[in-house]
Amino acid sequence: MSQSFDVVVIGAGPAGYVAAIRAAQNGLKSACIDEWKNRDGSTAFGGTCLNAGCIPSKALLESSELYHRAHAEFASHGIRIEHASMDIAKMQARKSGIVKQLTSGIAALFKANGVTGLQGHGRMLGAGRVEYTPHGGSPGLIETRSVILASGSAPIELKAVPFDGKDVVDSWGALEFVEVPKRVGVIGGGVIGLELGSVWKRLGAEVTVIEALDQFLYMVDQQIAKEALRHFKRQGLDVRLGAKVTASRRGTEGITLDYADANGTHSITVDKVIVAVGRRPYTQDLFGPDAGVRLDQRGFIEVDHECRTNVPNVWAVGDAVRGPMLAHKGSEEGVMVADLIAGQVAEVNYEVIPSVIYTAPEIAWTGRTEEQLKQDGVAYKVGSFNFAANGRAKALEQAAGLVKVIASAEDDRILGVHIVGPMAGELIAEAVLAMEFSASAEDLQRTIHAHPTLSEAMHEAALAADKRALHAINK
Ligand code: FAD
Ligand code: NAD
Repeated sequence: MSQSFDVVVIGAGPAGYVAAIRAAQNGLKSACIDEWKNRDGSTAFGGTCLNAGCIPSKALLESSELYHRAHAEFASHGIRIEHASMDIAKMQARKSGIVKQLTSGIAALFKANGVTGLQGHGRMLGAGRVEYTPHGGSPGLIETRSVILASGSAPIELKAVPFDGKDVVDSWGALEFVEVPKRVGVIGGGVIGLELGSVWKRLGAEVTVIEALDQFLYMVDQQIAKEALRHFKRQGLDVRLGAKVTASRRGTEGITLDYADANGTHSITVDKVIVAVGRRPYTQDLFGPDAGVRLDQRGFIEVDHECRTNVPNVWAVGDAVRGPMLAHKGSEEGVMVADLIAGQVAEVNYEVIPSVIYTAPEIAWTGRTEEQLKQDGVAYKVGSFNFAANGRAKALEQAAGLVKVIASAEDDRILGVHIVGPMAGELIAEAVLAMEFSASAEDLQRTIHAHPTLSEAMHEAALAADKRALHAINK
């Protein structure tokens, strides 16, 4: 006998599990199917983000940063540690413990909200019909009024450098190293390359990042990107721009990567290779022959601005659809869709999505960059403020970087905020809220910021946009 629901979500990453919870909160009978399996064969909700992405990477970034600071920064605080040593097994166990707690938390949230969590494979057969195959079981039919597809994404593999699951790995593999490799080659100087390159660099590896584009972090405001690159290079991260890997081979000395740049061809030999050249939408075996859901040329599920597919009552959210591949973007889409299905008014403001790169210093931004505003022909003014003049940043011994506020030259509305510096990922929340409420630079200027805090740098940058900074010389 088939089961029936109001809403069936396929995929329990941050887009899918949030959609299922909100649907249940809206009084809809909802189920969420997920096929995730860990390396040890165990199942878990949470998708890439909780199991192999956001959470484990941040756990290791934190541990490696503390280790690095114990070595490189504590002395300047007057704290001497003679023999700081690392225990990678313990670091990894801490990481796994956090992942376990959070993924079990989703199962508990499902239960508390009345969501039926199903572990196994989901396949959309047609509007109103989903096939569910439990792990190790046989397929059954589920009837549903609405389907939400949230199948996520998968890493892109390079033909010239195929994954071997041990020494040539994707981001998941790079989170699982059991010892610090001596030499790491990172292909792709994007978000994953920089975050995971930082983890192993801080723990003592020599890290070389090979990036195809001439421009560093093309999606980031270029003043901020250049400032970040200066700090990364000073930390010893070897970033090679405009470099394309053409071949790889294994020898007795390790893995050799051949690459070409403007100066000719070169090669480096490393012990581990992390391939981080982007991710692609994952829709493998998601559709039965009569599903009829349209994909775009790059394989993303085609949706409108409200995440509707071309098939009535079938929606798609998260990494499997257009837009930035970010957990919070997927979650907000999940909430919007669950609310729309329940007949409520809902939307996602795609103009104000925060992005954070968890390097040290962190990079965070929202809204448009100077480059984009120039391209769009928008008249703007800029105010920036260096953390070097911020008391809290000095006290933290983390005074590298700056906050940059861009506002309309015509009506003062904030158009973009870009930060490289300590806790940038936390600080950006103020800018997101301000922009969500269409705040002006003057609104930020007249908002009281506690002293001494890092947030004062945001205040001063807003003041600087009108040449009214109080703790910097206005130019
Ligand atoms: P996913 O999280 O990929 O979940 C999809 C789920 O659907 C998976 O569990 C999959 O097994 C399941 N599934 C797929 N097909 C089926 C099927 N047919 N039947 C049943 N189940 C199926 N984003 C951030 O915002 N902040 C970060 O700090 C961050 N760090 C990251 C670090 C790394 C190393 C990586 C790789 C990614 C990171 N991301 C980060 C990106 C983030 O993980 C993704 O944007 C997010 O996970 C997308 O959510 P999703 O729900 O769309 O898909
Ligand atoms: P990315 O798009 O951020 O970076 C990929 C980089 O690889 C780009 O700079 C690209 O120019 C380069 N590249 C592509 N092909 C190449 C080649 N053949 N040789 C050398 N360089 C090449 O992708 P990613 O770092 O793989 O991350 C994937 C997704 O995961 C991103 O969309 C990101 O949003 C998400 N993510 C987010 C976070 C975060 O929010 N902190 C962390 C990790 C991942």
